[in-house]
Amino acid sequence: MALLSIDRALELLLEPVSPKEEESVAVSLALGRILSAGVRAPCAYPHEANSAMDGYALAAGDGPWSVVGEAAAGKLFDRAVREHQAVRIFTGGVLPEGTDSVLIQENAHRQGEQLSSIAPLIKGQHVRAAGSDLREGDLLTAAGEPLTPSDLAALGGLGIQTVRCHRAPRVAIISTGDEVIPLGRSRQAGQVFNSNALFLEQAARQAGGAIIESLHLRDHRADVDRALDRITQQADLVLLSGGVSVGDHDHVGAALRARTDALMFYKVRMKPGKPVIAAQCGGCVVLGLPGNPASTMVSFELFARPVIRAMQGARRLHRTLYSAPCEASLPGGRQRHELLRAQLTHGRLSVHARQGSGDLSSLLGVNALVARPAHCDALPAGAPALYLALFGPDATQPPEAQWEKIA
Ligand code: AMP
Ligand code: MG
Repeated sequence: MALLSIDRALELLLEPVSPKEEESVAVSLALGRILSAGVRAPCAYPHEANSAMDGYALAAGDGPWSVVGEAAAGKLFDRAVREHQAVRIFTGGVLPEGTDSVLIQENAHRQGEQLSSIAPLIKGQHVRAAGSDLREGDLLTAAGEPLTPSDLAALGGLGIQTVRCHRAPRVAIISTGDEVIPLGRSRQAGQVFNSNALFLEQAARQAGGAIIESLHLRDHRADVDRALDRITQQADLVLLSGGVSVGDHDHVGAALRARTDALMFYKVRMKPGKPVIAAQCGGCVVLGLPGNPASTMVSFELFARPVIRAMQGARRLHRTLYSAPCEASLPGGRQRHELLRAQLTHGRLSVHARQGSGDLSSLLGVNALVARPAHCDALPAGAPALYLALFGPDATQPPEAQWEKIA
């Protein structure tokens, strides 16, 4: 049977997913949150005309002027200024009534209260006019976009205290394996530390999920069934690692395959991560990720992260594909799409030497997955290679659609 394509698996996975309920979030806590509705300017900005420089506020025209007072940031000069009068003003100071321009202090010649200009004046110079930056009702940020620190600064600068966002999806992590032990335990021969739980907790949180539980199960089918029955009642998304293959001790795959009504797909045409399995149990999406650390990481990026983003109402769900010169030569693509752990620095890709799905070294410093579509041509050293960036703005299209467009 032909393996499912990455994009088709994503389509099946995302089809039943809808954004979670809306809630109000204080702007100070909204970093990375996704707006459920666009935000418009509640007022024009700047609120009042103010000075962009230190100097003198006056009505443009010929001098000299006499200095009649001072307007500093936060301190108004509250009388009207007449012709041939000027007010000492500092950056951010509000232009007094009767003035329209600022003579910068570098061009001012002042003797006592007498003031003249050594350069011609242009009406409106060095003034930030009221409403010149934003008008009331202007769209500031659109629904479905994540909020950055600078977005929040702009919203806060307009006095906006709260925004409407979809709530964070509740994510439960279940790692499996008789050999898997928690960090801190003294290790016996044959045991491995639980790196997947650590990865999944951090990566799911970084994607905007709220971790409600992280537990580890031994390879017992009854334990897997019991945990799934309970946790799918509480979580929006369950991420399991390990046990998805068809070995005698792979109970996650068996438990999910047995839930025939719930099963969405099993196995995708990719490397690493082929035996990924997905089910929908009530309102909960369950993703079983293969347990090798690199497989868990790559299948999280391709499948789990878009689900977490979709549950938050993000408009763009997928990592974005770019191309950059690759330092080493790469062999032609094989039967499955391959995703190679790589690091992009200064616009050049260096693919990690070890690409085994069990290699921990392949996880270090990764910020890009070089995409080698099935049957693609070999690449000589220095030629541009396609990669999914694990940073920066997301894409609306799934990975294969992105690379088919480029190819
Ligand atoms: P599995 O998918 O259960 O067949 O596991 C594949 C490989 O990944 C085995 O070598 C496991 O020891 C390893 N593995 C499974 N779960 C974890 C985990 N939570 N942390 C680190 N390695 C794991
Ligand atoms: Mg296992």
